[in-house]
Amino acid sequence: MIALYPGSFDPITLGHLDLIERASRLYERVIVAVAIDSGKSSLFSVAQRQAQIEKATVHLPNVVVDSFDGLTVEFARAHDCRVLLRGLRAVSDFEYELQMAQTNRTLSEAAETVFLVTAAEYSFLSSSTVRQIARLGGPVSHLVPPHVERDLREQFRE
Ligand code: ADP
Repeated sequence: MIALYPGSFDPITLGHLDLIERASRLYERVIVAVAIDSGKSSLFSVAQRQAQIEKATVHLPNVVVDSFDGLTVEFARAHDCRVLLRGLRAVSDFEYELQMAQTNRTLSEAAETVFLVTAAEYSFLSSSTVRQIARLGGPVSHLVPPHVERDLREQFRE
């Protein structure tokens, strides 16, 4: 079974990566896909985010990285993904994720949304927190892979 893990990943964090590693042990193949139009303005380009995820997942042979425009369910259908993976960190994620899962179900019944509960040590972690700390010059080495830390430093030096 192929699972699709869609998201903004702006940038990928150790929380995302933990979820990807765990999913790679559950599914035959995991497609991590950067949403091109997620409705959020982004710090990194789609190509940069894709490259960051690829580098972070080189040790996982059944994980592939892609990007998509348009509806998640359409991308899932085109790639034969029967599972849409999402992460749940706290109660605050629940309402939004529930709404999205229900809505996706109205668009397609071919894919089921499956939630993985975040590892406790990353339950506070979000890409926006990482961007904010990096913008203020704080340390993020405990929150993102080393190459992403470098990209962040470079991005905010400019
Ligand atoms: P989106 O804009 O689609 O919410 P994100 O990149 O913010 O994209 O998140 C993608 C998915 O990863 C979401 O399901 C989110 O709940 C999950 N996620 C985000 N941060 C973490 C984390 N620290 N641990 C586990 N899952 C996470």
